[in-house]
Amino acid sequence: MPRMQVVQVAHAGGPLELVERDVPEPSEGHVLVKVQACGICHSDSLTKEGQWPGIQYPRVPGHEIAGVIEKLGADVEGWTAGQRVGVGWHGGHCGHCENCRHGDFVLCENGRVPGISYDGGYAQYMVAPQEALARIPDDLSDIDAAPLLCAGITTFNALRHSGARAGDVVAILGVGGLGHLGVQFAHKMGFVTAAVARGKDKAPLAKQLGAHHYIDSESQNVAEALMALGGARVILATATSGNAMSAAIGGLGVNGKMIMVGLSGEPVEVPIAQFIMRRNSVMGWPSGTAADSQETLAFSALSGVKPMTETFPLSRAAEAYDRMMSGKARFRVVLQPGG
Ligand SMILES: [Zn+2]
Ligand SMILES: [Zn+2]
Repeated sequence: MPRMQVVQVAHAGGPLELVERDVPEPSEGHVLVKVQACGICHSDSLTKEGQWPGIQYPRVPGHEIAGVIEKLGADVEGWTAGQRVGVGWHGGHCGHCENCRHGDFVLCENGRVPGISYDGGYAQYMVAPQEALARIPDDLSDIDAAPLLCAGITTFNALRHSGARAGDVVAILGVGGLGHLGVQFAHKMGFVTAAVARGKDKAPLAKQLGAHHYIDSESQNVAEALMALGGARVILATATSGNAMSAAIGGLGVNGKMIMVGLSGEPVEVPIAQFIMRRNSVMGWPSGTAADSQETLAFSALSGVKPMTETFPLSRAAEAYDRMMSGKARFRVVLQPGG
């Protein structure tokens, strides 16, 4: 029986530990993926700290997986061994719940997440259901593909469904793991792109990523600065702060919409009169399906959108995880189980 190295969490709150296991066999409708790269996401703390109901331990975290199909289980159609594939947050759906019956697979009531519902990508091999697979373009590296499967798809999919059109002002609130990709996507989609972040430090980087305007939320009134640009058609809120979102919401122009993708425990305060008089709205956006992932990867390869990454070998996963959680990483940390 071939063996592999994985990094597992043995119990909620336990450390990330490197262990050896048998390479699993793909069951019906599943494929064995040789993992080349796996991004570390803040959501991996759900697994490590046991903050997601019903996690069975030991569990291998990781839902930003880029690799190669090693082996097909029975009844897998449309995929072949040797194909490069990605697996993101949406790690499978049931096909029979009310939302699936309406074709809304990403909101499946029995939805599965790699690294939570089953073992994920902090490993040399992992098994994924075929409906969770996205093709990776030849000219996109595994390291670049991995973070695009979570942080990338979330911002790309939210922006392309936002209703904004080329030439509209789109603000990206926060220039971090999600925001540094959001700024690039907004620029490449043809929006007048305004990046909003704390302090002047991030201004050169935001411009380099494609922002036409930079708003420093420490020294400027964000809402006024956006209104000076004509008002935002969309504010993509990637910052993990309800207060920062509330401070920006006055910058929505006519028919403007705030789309929330950053998580925060703080509520967002909505100015009712403005919302009525400018026909404003606020909504959230969940990442997307494997097909959305595939389109995110294809668009990124085509347009040159790339995540900024720091890489670590699998054996240093615990250190890599701490680096990501410290908030100091620029901007995504990626494990390389292949080498
Ligand atoms: Zn994630
Ligand atoms: Zn379902």
